[in-house]
Amino acid sequence: MGYIVDVGEVFLAKNYARAEVAFVKGEGTRLFDEEGREYLDFVAGIAVCNLGHSHPELVKELKEQAEKLWHTSNLYYTEPQALLAKKLVELSFGERVFFANSGAEAVEAALKLARRWTYENYGKGKSHYIALENSFHGRTFGALSVTGQPKYWEGFEPLVPGVKFVKPNDCQGLKEAFSEEVCALILEPIQGEGGVIPLSKEFLSLAKELCNKYKALLIFDEIQTGIGRTGKLFAYEHFGIEPDVMCLAKALANGLPLSAVIAKEKVMQALKPGTHASTFGGNPLACKVAIKVLELVSDPSFLEEVRLKGKVLMEKLLKLKDKHPELIKEVRGAGLLIGIEFFKEVKPLYNFLFEKRVLVTAPKPNIIRLSPPLILNYREIDYFVEIFEAGIKQVYGS
Ligand SMILES: *Cc1c(COP(=O)(O)O)cnc(C)c1O
Repeated sequence: MGYIVDVGEVFLAKNYARAEVAFVKGEGTRLFDEEGREYLDFVAGIAVCNLGHSHPELVKELKEQAEKLWHTSNLYYTEPQALLAKKLVELSFGERVFFANSGAEAVEAALKLARRWTYENYGKGKSHYIALENSFHGRTFGALSVTGQPKYWEGFEPLVPGVKFVKPNDCQGLKEAFSEEVCALILEPIQGEGGVIPLSKEFLSLAKELCNKYKALLIFDEIQTGIGRTGKLFAYEHFGIEPDVMCLAKALANGLPLSAVIAKEKVMQALKPGTHASTFGGNPLACKVAIKVLELVSDPSFLEEVRLKGKVLMEKLLKLKDKHPELIKEVRGAGLLIGIEFFKEVKPLYNFLFEKRVLVTAPKPNIIRLSPPLILNYREIDYFVEIFEAGIKQVYGS
């Protein structure tokens, strides 16, 4: 075990089950540890480094901005923040943008926006939320309260009251959950931490319809699915259903802390001066990088490539599933966000891959999730599937 792991073991909070490796460098789809060993990264910092590590154009933007201006507070305007907001609006359904630093903070802001918007338009009492079982929206109290996985609540209750949970894709349940008290429905178009569970178009259309009917906001948490991950710039484009509010974070600045809440003018106007704020939110360094990220990722030919690579990877995995129907239950996802659900625990397979220096995530005990940098090449897809299949043979003996 190297020095970094050693020191981390002693001095860091123990809230993460970290692998015993410290990375010191990244390049494209590769990470390098203390001893200089190379890893193929199918995690990308949990769907964050969509353009890979140390992307030269992003490094250039960051360096230039670092020599110019780091921080002013939101008492003033800065060029990167204003231009990034403009770009996000041009590329989405939205008309105005609020910036924060992390996913949870964006969710928190969206939840507050929903209450404030209904308060201004319909008075007090419209304060309830609907969220989905198996969802993930972050770890702060508001975000945690709409996260439909009770294991994350343990020891932290009482949470924010007034949240009703509905099963993903349960249309009847969704109808029954709505009432005049609801101010917002929050959901991920494809549940990420829940194990890559896509919502149906039917369910999302109903969500839209019910939100309109009950004058509640439809909030899409695209923190994981956004910024090209699914082969469209935003996952909602697959469904042709626009939310009222969208949360972005993770890949927005390719690894610098930045998140955004995007909404129509008539919704965002509820956030008047003094209603909500963030000291670091929309800082010039992260925003400058994010402008370049969006420029590169929103290119139609780039997105076409993501869809193509996703299709190739998906087809290879489906073939594996056909070969091992007793082992692999389902392969699902969109673009380069893919979940592989097993009938067995995946920990030994995860360990095998790690030993072969291939990094993946296991959001559930029986699910492997793939979220490689979108810039990976076809040879890396082949290599991954080869190792993956070898792992299946070795670990499960089939
Ligand atoms: C990662 C994630 C969050 C939380 O983001 P943080 O930056 O860790 O606070 C929220 N929602 C979704 C869908 C996520 O994937």
